Amino acid sequence: MTIPPRPEHPASWYRASIAVELGDCPPLEGEQRADVCVIGGGITGCSAALHLAERGYSVVLLEAGEIGHGASGRSGGQILPGLGTDIATVEKALGRARAREIWEMSREAVRLTASLIERHDIPCELAWGYLHAAVKPRHVRELEAFGERMARDYDYSALTLLEGNALRQHVVSDAYPAALFDAEGGHLHPLNYTLGLARAARRAGVSIHEHSAVVELRRGEPATVITAQGRVVADSVVLGTNAYQAGLVPELSGRIMRAANYMIATAPLSEAQAAQVLPKNDALSDANFVLDYYRLSADRRLIFGGEVSYDGREPRNLEARMDDKIARIFPVLEGVPIEYRWGGDVAITLDRAPDFGRLGRNVYYAQGYSGHGMALAGLAGQLLADAIAGQRERFDVFAAMPHRRFPGGRLLRKPLLVLATHYYQLRDRL
Ligand SMILES: Cc1cc2nc3c(=O)[nH]c(=O)nc-3n(C[C@H](O)[C@H](O)[C@H](O)COP(=O)(O)OP(=O)(O)OC[C@H]3O[C@@H](n4cnc5c(N)ncnc54)[C@H](O)[C@@H]3O)c2cc1C
Repeated sequence: MTIPPRPEHPASWYRASIAVELGDCPPLEGEQRADVCVIGGGITGCSAALHLAERGYSVVLLEAGEIGHGASGRSGGQILPGLGTDIATVEKALGRARAREIWEMSREAVRLTASLIERHDIPCELAWGYLHAAVKPRHVRELEAFGERMARDYDYSALTLLEGNALRQHVVSDAYPAALFDAEGGHLHPLNYTLGLARAARRAGVSIHEHSAVVELRRGEPATVITAQGRVVADSVVLGTNAYQAGLVPELSGRIMRAANYMIATAPLSEAQAAQVLPKNDALSDANFVLDYYRLSADRRLIFGGEVSYDGREPRNLEARMDDKIARIFPVLEGVPIEYRWGGDVAITLDRAPDFGRLGRNVYYAQGYSGHGMALAGLAGQLLADAIAGQRERFDVFAAMPHRRFPGGRLLRKPLLVLATHYYQLRDRL
């Protein structure tokens, strides 16, 4: 069953600031044979293709739009250790030892991002420093307890609770009573990073086809992957389609919920204004459930994200709402124009832990990063390549995470998530 298309989001500021030349990736025509067919040209797909090609596999990558058309080319660009869910959720499901392995792999995902950027010379504005900011006293207590727990139980000592003047040296705002600074988090230009991975994959021999939406996946050994004008016959298939899958593999659709998230980019700030906002060039997200997050681009635009919708339709007065938020957090920016606004879709799992796995013997997938995939999707690509090469141990650590389907089938899924989100939005206000 194919789910009707959702409204297209406008192109992002990232599209207007591309610094990576990928070259021509023509639509697939005719039949190709490959060891592996990767579906989806986001970070998951591009990283999987690159790592497979480096292992000597012949790889065809098919992307419905252009590389980075999905969340990877539209995101806030924050690269962070951890998952979209609290590590306590993983501990509860898999025990402390496995949760520690997953935490360490999430740190490795950030290091892998940096090393891919360096190795493949990707111009994507990588910068370090991240603040998880409290908005209310309850958050301060929670962040403090989290920092202590991570140091005690996970030997993670990169976190420092900042308050008062120490905090103002990182973010010049009265909106936050405290923030947990994470020296291992950072940010980058997400589209240039994704394009850089695709360019590296191409140089390693991957055949990339844009504007090649897969309309049918015929499972079997080999599998046949069908587009409007061509097909790929492949021994294995990687699904890196995340929120954009639109019913291609119905077993997977019920495990994720698609939600749109929105971003704006202001006009470039002056140096003096930037110093009145994020003087150390950190990324920040607040501790609300429906969170606001932002960073400065290399040309000093404030790239600000927040607001969510479940039917893909842009919330009303989006720009005015973003404007209000920015003016509240940084009164000094009142009047700075918004020059771009766009959206992108995230895939959320019920418990917000990522969903990795295998269907049958030769279809592998990684999805449902729940808004936290910028670093993790890169590692997922590497683990997918390892798994296809027969080294499944680390992939299986993630795949062991139990995932429940959203209750109520496709029709009820959405209202239930909306209800839950309203509940948390209400809680955010308390
Ligand atoms: C607005 C926004 C802000 C975000 N901010 C952050 C952040 O700051 N930090 C963070 O860690 N995470 C963030 N995320 C989440 C993060 O971007 C994603 O977790 C990550 O990019 C997922 O990568 P992916 O490759 O799995 O999926 P995607 O990048 O979504 O790629 C999937 C691709 O598959 C293609 N596709 C789908 N179906 C088909 C088909 N049938 N045939 C061919 N191609 C197909 C799509 O066109 C798409 O390009 C954000 C997401 C959004 C939308």
